[in-house]
Amino acid sequence: MKASYITEEHEILRQSLRKFLEKEAYPYYDEWEKAGEVPRDFWRKLGEQGYLCPWLDEKYGGFGADFGYSVVINEEMEKVGTGLIGVGLHTDIVVPYLETYGTEKQKQRWLPKCTTGECITAIAMTEPGAGSDLASIRTTAVENEKGFTLNGEKTFITNGIHADLVVVVCKTDPHASPAYKGISLMVVERDTPGFSRGRKLDKIGLNSQDTSELIFEDAAVSKDNLLGKKGEGFYYLMNQLQQERLIVGIGAIAACERMLELTVAYVKERKAFGKSIASFQNTQFKLAELQTEVEIGRTFLDRTIEAHMNGEDVVKEVSMSKWWTTDLVKKVAMECMHLHGGYGYMEEYEIARRFRDAPVTAIYAGSNEIMKTIIAKKMGLV
Ligand SMILES: Cc1cc2nc3c(=O)[nH]c(=O)nc-3n(C[C@H](O)[C@H](O)[C@H](O)COP(=O)(O)OP(=O)(O)OC[C@H]3O[C@@H](n4cnc5c(N)ncnc54)[C@H](O)[C@@H]3O)c2cc1C
Repeated sequence: MKASYITEEHEILRQSLRKFLEKEAYPYYDEWEKAGEVPRDFWRKLGEQGYLCPWLDEKYGGFGADFGYSVVINEEMEKVGTGLIGVGLHTDIVVPYLETYGTEKQKQRWLPKCTTGECITAIAMTEPGAGSDLASIRTTAVENEKGFTLNGEKTFITNGIHADLVVVVCKTDPHASPAYKGISLMVVERDTPGFSRGRKLDKIGLNSQDTSELIFEDAAVSKDNLLGKKGEGFYYLMNQLQQERLIVGIGAIAACERMLELTVAYVKERKAFGKSIASFQNTQFKLAELQTEVEIGRTFLDRTIEAHMNGEDVVKEVSMSKWWTTDLVKKVAMECMHLHGGYGYMEEYEIARRFRDAPVTAIYAGSNEIMKTIIAKKMGLV
């Protein structure tokens, strides 16, 4: 079943992106996994072809594309590997903050380079002592005549090493009550004095994705880099996190589809007891069940994407699809690896990498427990 928001133009983009990735990404992906990062050169190539932030207005270098294009781009990136999540994070998660809350002057300054790949972005919410409980972050931005002095530490930041611009979640009023009212967003640029990168983190999956710590020690941030209004940061986050969670769901379903494709091919070819593994009823039932669940997930996700594109309030549905699809991707990874037998546990088989990459999707962008607290609130239970 094809999603109603996917048109012929979207499919044309998919075909050309696929060709591009077959040449520029698939052959190098294992190398990137070993290197622990995707080279900047790949970002510039993506930019040259118009695959970064296509939704931006033409005056900033985009082509005013609808969200359907973002869906296609995220799906095709995911098919290469979940380690390319940083591209979707840049295009559909961080740059939308700049576009939505930036002044015209800020947009003119930052957005064009975000479409060319010269400027890579990141968002820094999480700290060593605060992840799910965002209101308890400790990074502070103290105002002075020239701007703000930023102090604090962030961790687990996607694109942390490559990032030229980081949207930093900080407290401009650490004594605000309730605490979330003291939160603001600052755009910190690569060469800001007092801003440095900490460790590049050693993860069990998403190996080609650079994830790092960021450190702010009396970092001097200009007044011009405050994003939106002081004290409004938490509201901005709550608005933008919807699309972030949708992007994670899109990746999860694309990963499920890829794992099923790999496993169906494998079980048809692999033989035991003189028959193909596919001929055992257990294999057929397992794969039939997974295929059903993935199609159910895809249908609900597509409906939520459509509602999001129509500007409807989808907080509840996004939370539902985020937890459900990312629980599903873990299950699919586990079952598909199992159907590969011992080979599934070997790094040379793609399913092994997918098995390592899947679990984090249920943790980031708001853990699945946090998604359930949101749904419970929407149900009037809190
Ligand atoms: C690979 C990777 C990339 C990431 N990228 C980014 C990024 O780009 N930017 C960024 O800011 N952050 C990023 N994160 C951080 C991520 O968003 C957090 O890890 C996540 O929000 C969870 O926070 P935490 O790790 O502090 O866990 P905690 O908040 O300490 O949670 C620990 C456990 O307790 C559960 N829990 C917490 N609160 C509740 C509750 N109220 N009810 C029930 N259970 C609860 C959680 O679900 C979880 O299972 C990334 C993380 C990873 C691993």
